[in-house]
Amino acid sequence: MTATPAIEGWFTTGAAPALLGSRCTDCGTVYFPRELVFCKNPACSGETFEEYAFSRTGKVWSYTDAQYQPPPPYVPVADPYVPFALAAVELEEGLVVLGQVADGYGVADLKVGTPVELVVETLYTDDTGDRTIWRWKPVGRSSEPGRSSAVETPGGAG
Ligand SMILES: [Zn+2]
Repeated sequence: MTATPAIEGWFTTGAAPALLGSRCTDCGTVYFPRELVFCKNPACSGETFEEYAFSRTGKVWSYTDAQYQPPPPYVPVADPYVPFALAAVELEEGLVVLGQVADGYGVADLKVGTPVELVVETLYTDDTGDRTIWRWKPVGRSSEPGRSSAVETPGGAG
């Protein structure tokens, strides 16, 4: 069984997958997707970049339930359309990266600030085998069937 990334070069696979971007060798600014032409830092004139593997963990910054099929270039993978949760995750580098939530998880498992880790799962299968994509998997989820009623919202204004 072969599994290859649906998007080549955007992430690594294996036991500890990570997103791949680039880092300006002058100022250290990191980019995802990778920036290879010129540094967007206005205070930097760097034009050389090295490959950079991002942290595998982050915190949910925002999330949504995609109840309707997104417009192109989204590639429909299920017919009829199956709603899925999308999470915007702030990585340790401070970058926010959008991704689908891991299989078996939904918006009910997410809150702003929920710790997540990057996993690689099958997006669809074609002639070559499984094609994979990165997803965000909530970690440290309580296995308690009940839900806590006292939810603390640090810094939550209004
Ligand atoms: Zn730079």
